[in-house]
Amino acid sequence: MPAHCINRRLALAQRDGQAAKKEKEALYADPQWRKDNYIINRDSAGANPYFALQKLMWGNKRFVEGKSIHPRQDADVINTLSKGQAPFATIVGCSDSRVSAEILFDQGFGDLFVTRTAGQVMAQASYGTIEFASGVLGTKLIVVLGHSYCGAVDAAIKLPENPPGHVVTLINSIKPATKRYFGISENLLDFAVKQTLSTK
Ligand SMILES: [Zn+2]
Repeated sequence: MPAHCINRRLALAQRDGQAAKKEKEALYADPQWRKDNYIINRDSAGANPYFALQKLMWGNKRFVEGKSIHPRQDADVINTLSKGQAPFATIVGCSDSRVSAEILFDQGFGDLFVTRTAGQVMAQASYGTIEFASGVLGTKLIVVLGHSYCGAVDAAIKLPENPPGHVVTLINSIKPATKRYFGISENLLDFAVKQTLSTK
């Protein structure tokens, strides 16, 4: 393709990019659109844990309803974040590939400070990570997030204590949660996941 054609296509793409950016900014400023898409002001979420939790819950509502807007994932945001970050929440969750916090809560770059281990087992580094988020970055909300069908908790139910390898750290940390079960109405796996959360 001749150089002048490539330049013209690039110019058109950049013009379209600018138009798309303006359109997006107008959309985000529209009160009705914000209401329809459950938008919580980011500054409010950063300043107040109540609004931070609301922002996560409404983002999850978008995800559940198939209305994710995938906010703050463009080049401008990435450039801005190169100067610093101010996430509005800390998430302590499982490493499971099916529970990525940014996707589940429909958030973007710079929004969530996340620490994940299998079965959301806490380690010294996990506590340090949470302290850093709270003390240095100023997040005011910490969410401990468990999930259904957790493979780590399921393994802790099925495997004996002290299995070989580093996995022993996970299994032995989760096992106490599985031993408080006494045949209540929900299944053992669901019960044990909730126990891992209540003991954090
Ligand atoms: Zn899990």
